[in-house]
Amino acid sequence: MKFDEFPAQALMEITARPPLVFVRGKGSWLWDHEGKRYLDFVQGWAVNCLGHSPSVIVDALAEQSRKLITPSPAFYNEPSMQLAQRIVERSCFQRVFFTNSGAEANEGAIKLARKWGALNKGGAYEIITFEDSFHGRTLATMSASGKPGFRERFEPKVPGFPKARLNDLASVERLITERTVAVMLEPIQGETGVIPATDPFLRDLRELTRQRNLLLMVDEIQTGVGRTGKLWGYEHAGIAPDIMTLGKMLGGGVPLAALVATDAVSCFEHGDQGGTFNGNPLMAAVGCAVMDAVLAPGFLEGVEARGAYLMKGLSNLSARHGLGEVRGRGLLVALDLKHDIASKVTEIARDAGLLLNAPRPSLLRLMPALNLSQEEIDTMLAMLDGALRQTFEAHNAPGA
Ligand SMILES: *Cc1c(COP(=O)(O)O)cnc(C)c1O
Repeated sequence: MKFDEFPAQALMEITARPPLVFVRGKGSWLWDHEGKRYLDFVQGWAVNCLGHSPSVIVDALAEQSRKLITPSPAFYNEPSMQLAQRIVERSCFQRVFFTNSGAEANEGAIKLARKWGALNKGGAYEIITFEDSFHGRTLATMSASGKPGFRERFEPKVPGFPKARLNDLASVERLITERTVAVMLEPIQGETGVIPATDPFLRDLRELTRQRNLLLMVDEIQTGVGRTGKLWGYEHAGIAPDIMTLGKMLGGGVPLAALVATDAVSCFEHGDQGGTFNGNPLMAAVGCAVMDAVLAPGFLEGVEARGAYLMKGLSNLSARHGLGEVRGRGLLVALDLKHDIASKVTEIARDAGLLLNAPRPSLLRLMPALNLSQEEIDTMLAMLDGALRQTFEAHNAPGA
């Protein structure tokens, strides 16, 4: 079938997509409608932690769907309790509410903080967030985001999200008033270019929020579930936040996310929070399979080792082509290209059979499956080397 024969125009146009239809995936590889194979370093947007269609997820879906797909959120089901238990056992939190997307988890986190402020801080409701942050695409989460380009859209915004500068404690302190209830941030800003909050900054922020009786909320939708080489991103700094949100890799490819909180701040009353599909056993069973895989002995150490190997390879490439910094943690990694060639490089790489992401005009982001092989990293590095050479030849730019 040719691309033109697919009814693509029946879909709402929301972004520029290449004329490819992906029909099959296995591990680190994807196949398009013409049978062409691609090495995938996007992985459903940092979602498929175990690669495409891993057998543990296929089996969990098949088994659970034969037993029970959903009894309704008004009743308990076993997989949701099992998954919540796996999360609280391995974190500093005690309570979990499951959602269907990261943005929905963050909406819940915002509501929980506001409820806590209403009960404990005289109605304080402002949540300090950060420039260049990304928290989702609902109205409140767009308002919370500091992503450039969001500010002008869909006015009026939801009020109550003053923006501080990442890794600048004084900029946070200046925004604290009697209306402030919490500070929310990503341990590593993912969508705007893999910008880490430093460990000392996270520790200072924890100290400051504790002193001022404010909640610390971490959006771990991109960093959680092993992406950075530890189960949760906040662990690197050795802090204990009050609220965490998860998404992306929690479902390993199916829609599953979570709002996670300590007992002390879990103050929702009946009627405050809910949702039709929330905590359904079909998705929760997949979450259990994902958590079991990520918590298996040696898995996270492997993420750390492959992350270090990937960063070393990228640093060599960067030196060879005269490019910029390689940064990240675990298998959330970015390469600064120093020139605005990222979309050209991703295009050339795609034609050659390698899928990459360009979150900024001069930046590549790599978010492969956590269980990819060293050989697949080598293959990617060779293909990226070729794509860079071709880009510089075509542009006759420095670094050729
Ligand atoms: C992807 C992402 C979100 C939004 O999650 P959705 O599932 O797309 O709604 C929120 N925060 C961060 C840090 C993300 O990476």
